[in-house]
Amino acid sequence: MAPYLNLQGNILAAEAIIRSGTEDQCRRFLTPTASGEMLWCQLFSEPGAGSDLAGLGSMATPTAEGGFLLNGQKVWSSNAQFAEYGILMARTDPDAAKHQGISFFLLDMSLPGVEVRPIKQMTGDQEFCEVFFTDVDLAPDSIIGRPGDGWQVAMNVLLDERGSFGAAGVISLEHELDNLSQLGKNEGSLGPVAADDLASLVARGHALKALLNRLGSAPEAAPAAKLLRTEISAATSHLAASMRGADGMLNDATTQDLLYAPGMGIAGGSSEIQRNIIGERVLGLPREPR
Ligand SMILES: Cc1cc2nc3c(=O)[nH]c(=O)nc-3n(C[C@H](O)[C@H](O)[C@H](O)COP(=O)(O)OP(=O)(O)OC[C@H]3O[C@@H](n4cnc5c(N)ncnc54)[C@H](O)[C@@H]3O)c2cc1C
Repeated sequence: MAPYLNLQGNILAAEAIIRSGTEDQCRRFLTPTASGEMLWCQLFSEPGAGSDLAGLGSMATPTAEGGFLLNGQKVWSSNAQFAEYGILMARTDPDAAKHQGISFFLLDMSLPGVEVRPIKQMTGDQEFCEVFFTDVDLAPDSIIGRPGDGWQVAMNVLLDERGSFGAAGVISLEHELDNLSQLGKNEGSLGPVAADDLASLVARGHALKALLNRLGSAPEAAPAAKLLRTEISAATSHLAASMRGADGMLNDATTQDLLYAPGMGIAGGSSEIQRNIIGERVLGLPREPR
């Protein structure tokens, strides 16, 4: 499932800047981002704060000059090794309530004190990185919104991220299912189990497209799209591998899809978290204990 090119810039950073940035930030960042000159990364997750994002510990301490001094660590930051800027969440007030002491920044990745270390994933690629901050001097105009507004800015960004997974996923869904059907035809005599699985996946794909057409941009569309799309992707890659049998092990694309699929159920909020959101915010079920 191919995400948008520079998703972190065109969808996440751009939306945050348009919604909550100043006119000057819009002028500086939107055009180079849209033209593809400026690549971005998303610096949200930390070793101790993934699903529980508000538990983040990176600190941006206000300075006498009106800026902030940043210290801490992020992890799983996709494309951070290529990015010129990152959207960053950091704690500016350790005494405030968990969600209220967080602020949202645009971080120049070339600043002294920013260190990026790529991580090798099981596909063999190095898509994401650890990013370390040691006394990074953030200018006053690098904050988006006011200090303490960061959680709200980030919630909108995460909604856009989930929505884009679903939207980008639906664009590629048809292609993925066509390839699978073609593979079924090429394999000649599909066994009854594989034929049944193939038909069921194609039906699930059509049902997802119909659901998203109906929901449009309704708030429940984003978590549902992300959850269902990543589940179909995982099932598609498994079925393709089993239809190819031992030959699949020699096929780079099959292996790549199979190894990449589990990550899609984690990136942008895990499937369990999407289920929690659907249960609590869409179906109105009792909240899980916190
Ligand atoms: C391919 C990929 C790209 C990524 N890119 C980025 C990026 O660019 N920027 C960025 O900031 N992050 C990125 N991430 C990180 C991703 O957002 C986190 O991995 C994700 O939010 C989960 O956090 P975690 O890894 O800390 O797992 P944890 O939060 O520790 O969760 C571990 C397990 O517990 C489950 N779990 C946790 N809490 C609950 C709960 N309340 N109810 C039920 N189950 C629960 C989870 O579903 C999971 O199975 C990326 C991840 C992947 C895989």
